[in-house]
Amino acid sequence: MKGTIIMINQNDWRLTNQRNYLFEKQLKHVYFQKHSESWDHEHCEFCNETICDDKKMEYCTIDNYHWICENCFNDFKDMFKWTVV
Ligand SMILES: [Zn+2]
Repeated sequence: MKGTIIMINQNDWRLTNQRNYLFEKQLKHVYFQKHSESWDHEHCEFCNETICDDKKMEYCTIDNYHWICENCFNDFKDMFKWTVV
């Protein structure tokens, strides 16, 4: 008997045009850091969840520009072929 595999498909509500800028990117697994008092959070590129907890590890692009929460990383890592560096 086959186990249940949750397949994320192209119609997932979280997908917009991330493929244009996140496909096959290198990502860092880091703790979120505040840039300043006025810039104290980011949003996940997929689910839009607020990323502001500096005790939780999240993923971001090398340039710190795009952030991805742990959940979305796991859901989309196969589709986007990310490399964690
Ligand atoms: Zn997310």
